[in-house]
Amino acid sequence: MTDSTVKNASMISENTLIKMKHTACGHIANIPNWIIGELAEEDRISSKHGEVEIECPVCNGPRRRIK
Ligand SMILES: [Zn+2]
Repeated sequence: MTDSTVKNASMISENTLIKMKHTACGHIANIPNWIIGELAEEDRISSKHGEVEIECPVCNGPRRRIK
């Protein structure tokens, strides 16, 4: 039953890092692609703007993705 799910997951590159910059404090971090996917499932990504907001480890504010 879970075979198809496992195959789909294996197609995702877990090593892909996406640079994100918090515009407020300038902190830049590399976020694993799979985290972006999880955020998308939580509707925390604005597909219209291609931006994602997550908590910044430096100032705990929203961080936006660099396209
Ligand atoms: Zn910040």
